[in-house]
Amino acid sequence: MKVLVLNCGSSSVKFQLIETSLEAIKNDTEERLAKGIIERIGMPASIIKFESRDNQPYRATAEILEHRVAINKVVQLLTDPDYGVIKHKEEIGAVGHRVVHGGERFSTSKIIDPDVYKEMIECIELAPLHNPHNIKGYEIAREILPNVPHVAVFDTSFHQSMPAYAYIYGLPYVLYERHAIRRYGFHGTSHRYLTFRVERITGIPRNQFKLITCHLGNGCSIAAVKFGKSIDTSMGFTPLEGLVMGTRCGDIDPAIVLHVMAKEELELHEINTLLNKHSGLYGISGVSNDMREVIKSADKGNERAQLALDIFCYRLKKYIAAYAGAMGGTDYIAFTAGIGENSPVVRQKSCEGLEFMGIKIDQERNNQTVGKEALISTDDSPVKVFVIPTNEELVIARDTVRCINGVI
Ligand code: AMP
Repeated sequence: MKVLVLNCGSSSVKFQLIETSLEAIKNDTEERLAKGIIERIGMPASIIKFESRDNQPYRATAEILEHRVAINKVVQLLTDPDYGVIKHKEEIGAVGHRVVHGGERFSTSKIIDPDVYKEMIECIELAPLHNPHNIKGYEIAREILPNVPHVAVFDTSFHQSMPAYAYIYGLPYVLYERHAIRRYGFHGTSHRYLTFRVERITGIPRNQFKLITCHLGNGCSIAAVKFGKSIDTSMGFTPLEGLVMGTRCGDIDPAIVLHVMAKEELELHEINTLLNKHSGLYGISGVSNDMREVIKSADKGNERAQLALDIFCYRLKKYIAAYAGAMGGTDYIAFTAGIGENSPVVRQKSCEGLEFMGIKIDQERNNQTVGKEALISTDDSPVKVFVIPTNEELVIARDTVRCINGVI
């Protein structure tokens, strides 16, 4: 079956068309037929990028003012006689939608029926910046492809297995009861993909190993996966908590927020912007939110860039050690996403000093591993450390097929 995977953000639509089935999932033989992105929706020059298995890549700029036009463009590209990979849109058998927040209602992916749709709408209050775009994408795709199943795959679902002592904050319990204030965690599809991959690579069933998964991209999160289940993760009520990120601060003393608001006379929206957009690598270094630029500047002697890199890796190291503690040790660590897949320096620095826990990085293997799957620990390292390029779209396509076949 051909599954269209859609990831609708505020100004972008990412998509893939994946050929998959229960049999292909079992044998790891799915095929990506096409992928693409439409960026800068609603701005003067939207950017369209499209690559397919069979044809030359397509690049264009156009005025795409809204998501409806963008999703129609996706279908048009897929069926284009020169660039496309299918003849008719009817060849698309199902659509899998990335949805950021599923609250406590969704611990697995779901076929979107009127009840699920209603509950997805109710989750908007937990992720007002993300869920409305995901849901809008669904509504438009449903109009364009009305006769196929649509499945919602939630970033938060994988972490619903956390025990209450990991997800309840040290706040009045009534806030959980009244406003659902708790840790949810995000990047669940990525942490889950790493868990599947480690199972495949090692041949050991996931209910028999402990794993620490590090998703280090623009947003960063880390998870403790014990016997196949997430038991803790660093992002919390929102994706602001935890590791230092490109522009997000991660963990801070909450009293700083009140103090800075008073001292700098900031409104709510201004402190929100400060914490989410002006902090992290960018805020500390003053150079960039892009780890490549931070490392380049640090190498040239920029002290604040060096400090940003040091803080990023130190925070990550503390979390790795904490999660090993939470699980009573770990068998594996896996790094993924832009920084995790491509930065030997970050991987080296964040594991340095953890030899006492059985984590020994092989420098040569680490340095040679950029953007590909590989083992980067030494042969005698008790904890095996992997780099695994993430594939969230594949997880969404797989869940779509599983939901349709009633095996989720
Ligand atoms: P993602 O969100 O997974 O696309 O990751 C994006 C981030 O990965 C960028 O902001 C960069 O900071 C980082 N990145 C990409 N390539 C490299 C690299 N070669 N070295 C360090 N960081 C990188």
